[in-house]
Amino acid sequence: MPNAAPLYIGSEIYRQPAFGTNHPLNIVRHAAVIDLLQMLGWLNENSFRESQPASVDQLVEFHSRTYVRALQYANATGLVDKEARERYQVGTFENPLFPGLFERASMTVGGSILSAELAVKGHVVFHPTGGTHHGKVDRASGFCYFNDPVFAILTMLKEGRDRVLYIDLDAHHGDGVEEAFLDEPRVSTLSIHEAERWPFSGTTSRPDAGAWNLAVAPGINDTEFEFLFDHAVLPLLDRLQPDALVLCCGADCLAGDPLSKMELSNVVLWDAVDSLIARQLPTVILGGGGYNPWTVTRYWAGMWGRISGQAFPERLPADATDYLRNMECDLIDDEDVEEAWLTTMADTPYPGPLRDEIRSLAIAA
Ligand SMILES: [Zn+2]
Repeated sequence: MPNAAPLYIGSEIYRQPAFGTNHPLNIVRHAAVIDLLQMLGWLNENSFRESQPASVDQLVEFHSRTYVRALQYANATGLVDKEARERYQVGTFENPLFPGLFERASMTVGGSILSAELAVKGHVVFHPTGGTHHGKVDRASGFCYFNDPVFAILTMLKEGRDRVLYIDLDAHHGDGVEEAFLDEPRVSTLSIHEAERWPFSGTTSRPDAGAWNLAVAPGINDTEFEFLFDHAVLPLLDRLQPDALVLCCGADCLAGDPLSKMELSNVVLWDAVDSLIARQLPTVILGGGGYNPWTVTRYWAGMWGRISGQAFPERLPADATDYLRNMECDLIDDEDVEEAWLTTMADTPYPGPLRDEIRSLAIAA
């Protein structure tokens, strides 16, 4: 069905500083993706749509009104009292209060609503600032204040889709999205994430509730990921016969991410997303986590390159390499920045042995 041109959803708001210092998300991600795409000549104005912030009336279709009000108040005053901090988990190290927080979080929700509206019209839609998959009804969680994937899915339902499949490839369990739709038979969720990592949920599947989880051992390589994808994800897709897809493509599952120990190349993930797009369903592709600015930028820029059918250069142009060389990250030592992260777009694949535990995980699913 998607036959219209692919679309990229973004906003200038993401160029503003966010999260404050000493936070893993205090790195340039979204602006860097757009800048790199412009250097490559891969993003033109016909493919770009500016998102609009979600209104309070829209936000309360999932989040509690008291939480939305509390976040607005904290945003306007710059203050969170102890009770609100504990209740809503805002103003903590994990989910800090920073200027423009409410506008930014609402913009992300608005972007995911717009993405779903355009996807059902036949576009494949890429919204890399989306993917705040840990947000809960009445509190922030895991750097997420709202939960924009939930809104993408709710919009698909409103638009008449009734078998929506959410596939989460971020290194962390998509707990907020799973929880939101456990009692909704029209929505199924599937999350591939690293076992024994925060938030420590997603250890088992609940087919009765339409929730599938593949918690993988640390160090998963491209060979293992491909096996899981071919033997668990695609067969599930065939069984469920979804009529719309929402994908969460957090970049923290890539090798080199400082907050997880998955060892995937960007190529194996692009291939996986390509095979999902090939199903010709309304498809929204969101971002998510990702704490290595070099691997995040290459993954998401390359994702758009794949979606929009670009020819990948062997080496990046000199201005792109200079740009990447100037990026900084407190969590990664200078000597650990690999030259390939600065000079290429596509990783050399990371094949490896197929461990029995991964094989049995796929078969059990
Ligand atoms: Zn993550």
